[in-house]
Amino acid sequence: MFKTVLVANRGEVALRVIAACHELGLDTVAVCSTADRQALHARAAGRAVCIGPAPAERSYLSVAAIVEAACLAGADAVHPGYGFLAESAQLAEACAEREVAFVGPPPAVLRLVGDKVAARAAMRRVGVPVLPGADEPAETPAARHEAAESIGYPVIVKARGGGGGRGMRVAADAASLETVWRTAQREAQAAFGDPRLYLERYLAAPRHIEFQVLVDGAGAVLGLGERECTIQRRHQKLLEESPSVAVDEATRRELAAQVARAARAVGYRNAGTFEFLRDESGRFHFIEVNARLQVEHPVTEMVTGVDIVKEQLRIAAGEELAIPEGGVMPRGHAIECRVNAEHPATLRPSPGTVTAFTMGGGTGPGVRVDTALEAGGVVSPHYDSLVAKVVAHGRDRGEAIARMRRALAMTRIDGIETTIPLHLRILADPDFQAGRVDTGFLERFALGGETPARAARRGG
Ligand code: ADP
Repeated sequence: MFKTVLVANRGEVALRVIAACHELGLDTVAVCSTADRQALHARAAGRAVCIGPAPAERSYLSVAAIVEAACLAGADAVHPGYGFLAESAQLAEACAEREVAFVGPPPAVLRLVGDKVAARAAMRRVGVPVLPGADEPAETPAARHEAAESIGYPVIVKARGGGGGRGMRVAADAASLETVWRTAQREAQAAFGDPRLYLERYLAAPRHIEFQVLVDGAGAVLGLGERECTIQRRHQKLLEESPSVAVDEATRRELAAQVARAARAVGYRNAGTFEFLRDESGRFHFIEVNARLQVEHPVTEMVTGVDIVKEQLRIAAGEELAIPEGGVMPRGHAIECRVNAEHPATLRPSPGTVTAFTMGGGTGPGVRVDTALEAGGVVSPHYDSLVAKVVAHGRDRGEAIARMRRALAMTRIDGIETTIPLHLRILADPDFQAGRVDTGFLERFALGGETPARAARRGG
């Protein structure tokens, strides 16, 4: 096992990784920007190294700064968390050159799955269903039109190296394709420095369902079941749960087997998530692989009892996975609410100084809170707006929802606006409670539009 781990991240995920390291008896080194010198993650680690100024490009996103800090601190491993450099083949390679372990897949796998077109092709080769799409570059307007016609409108234009729901636009018909393409291209260039796009069939009302796996150095795969992440705003997840009410046991087994086969075929290592969209007829279509720890990993931990971060560290250190006979048996139901520093109605960022933070009695049975929030702490406009993840576990979905409502209702965060009021509305909604959701749910709901429950109340 390692001796010292450098945690190349900030906020709640840095604390999450530090906690796992400390449980394993490992020393930790935090990195921080000048804006984060007083931040909780910098204080929680054994040591903290300042790696640059507040803008992430010059600190948390600097491969050179991270690797230099790891070497200077004598770390023998780097855990990247999620976001920032978590899926950077460049960081994984730079670590290898300096003989520091990177807690994640090898560079070749990061390159493969980081290119969504290559990932789609790899999945198709092993028989995992992918949405109809054009995998060719489609550089000219004529080639794009031809490709879109053969896929069938509406089509979605996506960034080949994308993530976080950015650089993604829908074209309803041939007339709008060129404008949509150019807008997405500008967005992709600005967000990822890579203007390359591809086309895929657009599903009108899908559910987002993803499968979590752990793969050790020998290629043994441990499936940890699925998560449903259908409650999204602008293609970004806001509330996640495990298991999904839309997956029956036979489907779960079949998809888990497909994912395990695909993971082995691409030489996958460490923790990974294979994301699918389920269409209205119940068919599943692969969309992408997330080659890292995910924000929503706690719901899986709550139902499986597996500590994913500790397993990541063990795998990176060369240990074999212990795979129970018959696989991991999930217990009960878990839900995660992402508490963002945002105005609950407009979802605009709300940075500032937190003047009070208490969970009251909200952290009772079945509730876990992953956060770096504290009274007097500052939510910086430089970084992601996620400030806390409240996770509730219950014997069944109903109990998990009730526990979540109790936990959120007793939480007080002053000084910034948060998404808690929006979560409380979602949790009280009859359609959500019945599991009648698709990825358009939140937009309809927040805008006060038509939902099945409202239609039923009107007798419509
Ligand atoms: P990112 O990597 O930016 O998160 P994904 O490919 O994972 O992008 O997609 C994020 C979300 O965007 C999905 O959960 C879904 O809501 C929406 N989306 C992506 N592809 C499609 C599609 N072909 N049809 C309908 N919605 C899609």
